[in-house]
Amino acid sequence: MGSTNKYSRQLLFWPEGKKDQEKLQQKVVTIIGIGALGTALANHLVRAGVGEIRIVDRDFVEESNLQRQMLFDESDAREHKPKVVAAKEKLTAINSTVTIVSYIEDINANNIEAIVEGSHLILDGTDNMQTRFLINDVSIKLGIPWIYGGVVHSRGMTTTIIPNRTPCFRCLFPNVENGHGETCDTLGVLSTVVHVIASYQITEALKLLIEDETYIREEMLQIDVWKNDFDLFPFQLSLNETCPCCQKRNFEFLSKPNRGYFVSSLCGRDSIQISPTDERKIDFNDFVPKWGHLGTLIQTPYLLRLTYDEYQLSLFTNGRLFIQGTNDQTIAKRLYSTLVGD
Ligand SMILES: [Zn+2]
Repeated sequence: MGSTNKYSRQLLFWPEGKKDQEKLQQKVVTIIGIGALGTALANHLVRAGVGEIRIVDRDFVEESNLQRQMLFDESDAREHKPKVVAAKEKLTAINSTVTIVSYIEDINANNIEAIVEGSHLILDGTDNMQTRFLINDVSIKLGIPWIYGGVVHSRGMTTTIIPNRTPCFRCLFPNVENGHGETCDTLGVLSTVVHVIASYQITEALKLLIEDETYIREEMLQIDVWKNDFDLFPFQLSLNETCPCCQKRNFEFLSKPNRGYFVSSLCGRDSIQISPTDERKIDFNDFVPKWGHLGTLIQTPYLLRLTYDEYQLSLFTNGRLFIQGTNDQTIAKRLYSTLVGD
C-alpha cells in the first residue's frame, strides 16, 4: 500500500473520505478497448487508485494513434507494441499499487465472460457497435453495470447502464444491424472530444465504485465540442418492454460459434482480422524459418510481422492474424490457411 498522501486531494473530495477510498481500492474494473477512450479511462482510474484494472485490446500501437491515445509514444509505435503491453508499462509507472491485468485479445463471445467475471464495472473503450452489444449482453447476464462511450469527429455520447435499473443498450439502440455507420476511420476524430466523454464516463464510474449513487446519470448525454451543442435524452423515452436482452434475457451476441474463425473487417483501414475460435498457442520459432524467406520479418515478444507481397501480416501468440492491405475476406482467409494453417 502506497502513501495515502497520493490521494490527499481526492480524500478531501469524497463524501466519506478514507472509507470511500478504501471501497475504491477493493474494486475491479474491466476496460474493453485501449485506444483513444480506453487510454484516457485507464489513466484516470489508475491515478484514482482503483484496486484492479483489466485491459483488453487486440491492436498494436501505430503512429496514427499518437494524436489522441495518450498513454503511447513514438517508441511504442516503432516497436509495434501491443496496446495493452504499452499501456500496462505506463500505467504501472503512474501508480504501482494498482494491479493491471492485460489481455492481448480480440474480445468476442468466446472469451468475454471469463475476462469480465468478478468485475464490479465494465467501461467501454471500443470503437464499434457490435462489441457494445456483446458487452451489453454480458453486463445484463452477469449483472455488472457498464458505461458506454462513443466518439467520432467532434461528437461524443455516453450513458450508464445498470442492470435492473436503467434501460439497456439494446433498449436505447434497438436497430442492431447498422449502428451509426460513422467511424473515426472515415470521419476522423478530434482528441478533445475523447477526453470530454472519458471524463464523464470516469465521473460516473467513480460514483458507482464508491457506491454513492445519488447523482447517477439517468439519461443519454450527447455533445459536440466543436459546435458547442449539449443534449440530454431522458431514459423515459427509451424504455423497451419487449427488449430481447434485458426483458427476455435472450443473449444473442453471446451465442458462440462452435469452431472456425471470427473474421472482422476494420472499417476504413484496409485491414482484416482473423481469430480462431479454438484456443491456440503459437510458437514463433516454428514460423521464423517458414516465413523468413517470404519477405521482411520482424519478431517481437508479442507478434511476428511479415511484409508479404502487398500485405502486412501480424501474427499473435494465440493464433490471431491481422492482415493489412486488403478488404477482401476471401483473400484474408486464404492467407490464413496458407501461412498459419487451419
Ligand atoms: Zn433492454
